[in-house]
Amino acid sequence: MISGSVEQAAERLRKAVPIMVRHGIPVTPLNYALWYAYVSNEDPTLNLRIDEIVAAYGMIPLTSAEGLFREHVSAAGNYETALVRVKDNLEQMVQGIDKDLHATIADTRSFSSLLDECNRDLRAPSTSKTNVDDIFGTLDKLLQGSTAMQENTSRFEQRLSSANDEIRRLRNELETLRQDAMHDELTGVFNRRAFDLELGQFLGQGERGPAIHLAMLDIDHFKQFNDRFGHVVGDRVLALVGKQLNAITRVGVSVYRYGGEEFALIFCGGTVVQATQLTETLRFSIERLVLKDSRNGERLANITVSIGVASRGAGETAEDLVARTDAALYQAKSDGRNRVCQV
Ligand code: GH3
Ligand code: MG
Ligand code: MG
Repeated sequence: MISGSVEQAAERLRKAVPIMVRHGIPVTPLNYALWYAYVSNEDPTLNLRIDEIVAAYGMIPLTSAEGLFREHVSAAGNYETALVRVKDNLEQMVQGIDKDLHATIADTRSFSSLLDECNRDLRAPSTSKTNVDDIFGTLDKLLQGSTAMQENTSRFEQRLSSANDEIRRLRNELETLRQDAMHDELTGVFNRRAFDLELGQFLGQGERGPAIHLAMLDIDHFKQFNDRFGHVVGDRVLALVGKQLNAITRVGVSVYRYGGEEFALIFCGGTVVQATQLTETLRFSIERLVLKDSRNGERLANITVSIGVASRGAGETAEDLVARTDAALYQAKSDGRNRVCQV
């Protein structure tokens, strides 16, 4: 029944949010869809993996959620597409209900008017009076039936309309969520919002969680790319650096655009030496990039970055850790740029 599936969908979405809140999972479109799938229990393997991660971390890091989503929820591997699909499904349900509802109302109305018509006919002066009482008796029953049907219909209408309201609310919610999704469009890495949420998630675990190392990366003399070649080329540089950063992303290493031409990397687990080595590899891979003129392939400039690395100290807040890492980055800049500085 259509109303059943609408209520089921609304129920699942209503169930998903408290679970996410309980596990400290940010309500991003991706997570939303992931937990929707979890409460649907349609893919037991997904539920098993989620249960395992929650048991291991006490939560699901955003980056793991991303991987799970790609593998289990969205066959296309694109959460935007999946989000559109969720929305389309909801839309279809709403339209289905509307159609069903209008058909029911139309049925009831035509039944009512038919009965009114019969009633009028029967009450009209007649030559024979023998069977009139019987006929009235039958009609009364029919009228009772009709009234009940109308009451049912209005209840049905009420129920469906509140289901519709719920779906519309969820649609708006999804729309809002889509707008502040956690990816940065230009560079393809996670955005600042994801950084704040995920760093908070990791640090919130305190001593129970894995070791946390942070790296802040800033493109050297970036303003010059804009000034010499224009903003479009500046954007291309950002996209190129984003691509290099994305290439080193793995379980335990997440990359974010912190703002402007500044990026952040969070390392979960491992030693600070390992984290520093990885940023050194990254720095070198960016140094080898050559920015070319897209029209004639002519070499325009090299790209270099400076990186600061710091480990989270016991009980240190996100703000303090970012400030210390920033200080290391500042040191790398004043030491001559195109280098990694670890504090
Ligand atoms: P430093 O080596 O000290 O980091 O020098 P810098 O030129 O990289 O640093 P500065 O902070 O002076 O300049 C950063 C510039 O980045 C300024 C700003 O206009 C530009 N910028 C920030 N976001 C974007 C963006 O999304 N696209 C483009 N094209 N430019 C951006
Ligand atoms: Mg810079
Ligand atoms: Mg900067």
